[in-house]
Amino acid sequence: MDKVLSVSLGEIALKGLNRKYFEDKLISRMRRAIGNLEYDKIYKEQGKIYIETPEENHDKIINSLKKVFGLVYISSCVRVEKDIKNIEEASIEIMKEKLLKDSVKTFKVKTNRVDKSFPIQSPEVSKRIGGVILDHFNDLEVDIHNPETYLYIDIKENCYIYTERIKGYGGLPIGTNGKGLLLLSGGIDSPVAGFLMAKRGVEISGIHFHSYPFTSERAEEKVKDLAKILTLYTGRIKLYSVNILEIQKELNAKCPEDEMTILSRRFMMRIAERVALENDIDALITGENLGQVASQTMNGISVINAAVDKPILRPLIGFDKVEIIDIAKDIDTYETSILPFEDCCTVFLPKHPVTRPKLKDIEESEKNIDVEILVERAIENMKIYYIE
Ligand code: ATP
Ligand code: MG
Repeated sequence: MDKVLSVSLGEIALKGLNRKYFEDKLISRMRRAIGNLEYDKIYKEQGKIYIETPEENHDKIINSLKKVFGLVYISSCVRVEKDIKNIEEASIEIMKEKLLKDSVKTFKVKTNRVDKSFPIQSPEVSKRIGGVILDHFNDLEVDIHNPETYLYIDIKENCYIYTERIKGYGGLPIGTNGKGLLLLSGGIDSPVAGFLMAKRGVEISGIHFHSYPFTSERAEEKVKDLAKILTLYTGRIKLYSVNILEIQKELNAKCPEDEMTILSRRFMMRIAERVALENDIDALITGENLGQVASQTMNGISVINAAVDKPILRPLIGFDKVEIIDIAKDIDTYETSILPFEDCCTVFLPKHPVTRPKLKDIEESEKNIDVEILVERAIENMKIYYIE
């Protein structure tokens, strides 16, 4: 009777022919997350992935695996040979452990007989083990509708028994869905947008725009801190940092004040697209959200899109602010995001930004400046950080 960790796969399990590809990606992500912690072996068995590792490592490994996208539940379980006597004994052991930790009064046995050659059918196994548990623990009762704990029994090549399933984020393993360049400001939204796209399997790089020395070095540090929190989910992030002060000054001097936000947003997209093209990145990602601020209207979005050819992914488009804040708190970026450092967008903030910009007008205004050269120069002075 030994203890192993089990990992269930959620959406990956629905993949047909590609399934092996997704599983292998997931396993390589898991290995990275486990890092220096000891384990003897990772193996697949009929729909789940198992890790052989000393029991004292279980909690630590579960903690790092929780942040790996593609897995839905992690359990610490007992593995026994599939023989009903073994299953009975192990069930008692597992229940004893559970009772030492939590004072549960009711339980239900849930058997999943994957190996149909096992002679006893699932409901029979559940009944029999339920009986054994009742005989052994006087204070426990069965509650089939609303039990305080389940006793799970998976009968496969081996038999796995456990009471707890720790929830992961689900999604798809990073690297299975292309690469995205996240426009990372110091705000609440963009880190959440990066998290959500990474959760769909997108490998994330970041780009930040600042107006140093109008914005401070501390403001850039804050963005690096946010990127660092994101790496817990995404792995290493290459962060590009671009000074757009010269662009903003040009716009401020030569274009209508009320178009400032939309014009600088179009520059951000152009610069981001250039970086994406040079680095084999498929799409741009922003934390834009319909209706939140003046530039984030339907018109605003079309005019921003028209500046580039690459797709711009906006995973937060239909979210409410409170929903975004909930996720930001959950992934631990919120406290950093609300630190009060200036953002480049506030440097030349128009008093009354246009909410229904017309592409024709915006393009007309851009004729007053040399877009190409400004983009070129911003990229020449770009800095790159590797955030681990
Ligand atoms: P956030 O909370 O992410 O800053 P926001 O509500 O402040 O978003 P905006 O300032 O309009 O909204 O920015 C919309 C999106 O544009 C951001 O989510 C981000 O993806 C991108 N963006 C804005 N400012 C910057 C910046 N300085 N550097 C990089 N990206 C930026
Ligand atoms: Mg912002």
